[in-house]
Amino acid sequence: MTELFDFVGGGVASSSPLVGSDTEPTIFELSVPGRKSSSFRNSGVDLLDPASILESRFLRSEEVDLPEVSERDLVGHYTRLASRQYSVDMGAYPLGSCTMKYNPKFADSVAGMPGLNRVHPGSPDELVQGWLELLVMAEEYLCEITGMQAATFQPAAGAAGELTGLLVIRAYLQHTGSKANKIIIPDSSHGTNPASVTLSGFDVVTVPSDESGLVDTDALAKVLDGSVAGMMMTNPNTLGLFEVKITEIARMVHEVGGLMYYDGANLNAVLGISRPGDMGFDVVHSNLHKTFATPHGGGGPGSGPVAVSGALADFLPGPKPCRLSDKENEFGWYMPPRSIGRVHSHFGNAVVVARALAYMVYNGSDGLKMASDLAVLNANWLKASIADYYEFPFDGVCMHEFVASALQIKKETGIRGLDIAKSLFERGFHAPTVYFPLIVEEALMIEPTETESPQTVRALADALIDIAKRAHDPETKDALHDAPTTTPVRRLDEARAARNPKLIF
Ligand SMILES: *Cc1c(COP(=O)(O)O)cnc(C)c1O
Repeated sequence: MTELFDFVGGGVASSSPLVGSDTEPTIFELSVPGRKSSSFRNSGVDLLDPASILESRFLRSEEVDLPEVSERDLVGHYTRLASRQYSVDMGAYPLGSCTMKYNPKFADSVAGMPGLNRVHPGSPDELVQGWLELLVMAEEYLCEITGMQAATFQPAAGAAGELTGLLVIRAYLQHTGSKANKIIIPDSSHGTNPASVTLSGFDVVTVPSDESGLVDTDALAKVLDGSVAGMMMTNPNTLGLFEVKITEIARMVHEVGGLMYYDGANLNAVLGISRPGDMGFDVVHSNLHKTFATPHGGGGPGSGPVAVSGALADFLPGPKPCRLSDKENEFGWYMPPRSIGRVHSHFGNAVVVARALAYMVYNGSDGLKMASDLAVLNANWLKASIADYYEFPFDGVCMHEFVASALQIKKETGIRGLDIAKSLFERGFHAPTVYFPLIVEEALMIEPTETESPQTVRALADALIDIAKRAHDPETKDALHDAPTTTPVRRLDEARAARNPKLIF
């Protein structure tokens, strides 16, 4: 039957979360042959047989196995799934390092503007002058924020930015005739750093942290020689600490001819307060999807622009949008003369850049600085609030996040960091990052973010305190091993999901 009324349900009877059903059928189970989400009225024009216009080698011989569902079932299915999901729009999401803050809705309206998102990436320059101006402005703003000279928006995420920045360093060193092949990384660095170094063909050299959780400069001095191509630093580091000797470290690395790479994924700690360029860095990537108003975590889209000093600008990926020097307000493209080439098709995830620029303009420099002030204030207040119940292996003022340890609680009660994290779900919060960074046992890496109110930060502190108290009470302790019991799914086997994905039932 051809249905012209496409909006009616069918297939397997749908379950509503409101009637207490635990399982949601897969979209394939909802499928009924012939059912469609939209169909066309018969226009009287004969259907074209694809075989009459395409060579047979371009035609499928078998039907594609796609689910066939009505619009009503499709929307019901995904709405029910969404209602079982915890999200940044729902409440606090203190997942350390990831900056899962609330993203303002005006950024969605910018991303929804047809003039921005309906443009074909192959459009001729004269039809996309607005887009080019936007990308050039975003580059100028990002350079102002980071203290750098030029930037590329091609990399699609932070790790892609790291690889790009390292390839730029490699191209620059090759150009100068250097054979240096080592990149130094502190042991408190983000896990993507050593992976990017290896991918870009350099060798990793790790330097330890000292007892305050910062780079051990004596250990650094011992590994510095002419074979060092550069050093990659995450700042604030993954312990949430600002590397106070950062300018001295930059000077030491420069003295042996190495370049300084700043992992600025967590720029929300330092906006308008300090700039990597002023601290002596040559390359910095930032994560627009963390700091500048793009929701993330479900696999994208992201944007990990790389900004560089003047000496490296010629090596950036291209082609790059630019102001045409001869005329005001006319924009075009140019290829940096020693470019490493493309790292993304077209212009990268351009709509994420549009969202980021809108966020920068909306907030202004004072608003961006306030965002960082609040990120740091919220983290320090939360840390101080739970200080009687949790240990901090590296004490002192933190930046936008801090790392607590449940080691003592585990020794005394058997309750682990994982149990504490899972128990937070029952109290209406997402869990923090756990067991990272690796240098802290039973780590709980907590980033309340700048968008949470004092009331929410207080409630999060109360939840963490309540869990710690229950861990010490023999009557309530065991329940923590079972948490969460109130969520649609309990403790998932994350490794199995990655190794044996079962997408079709
Ligand atoms: C998130 C993060 C990255 C990686 O960014 P992706 O966009 O996930 O690739 C790198 N470094 C630090 C410090 C981060 O927090």
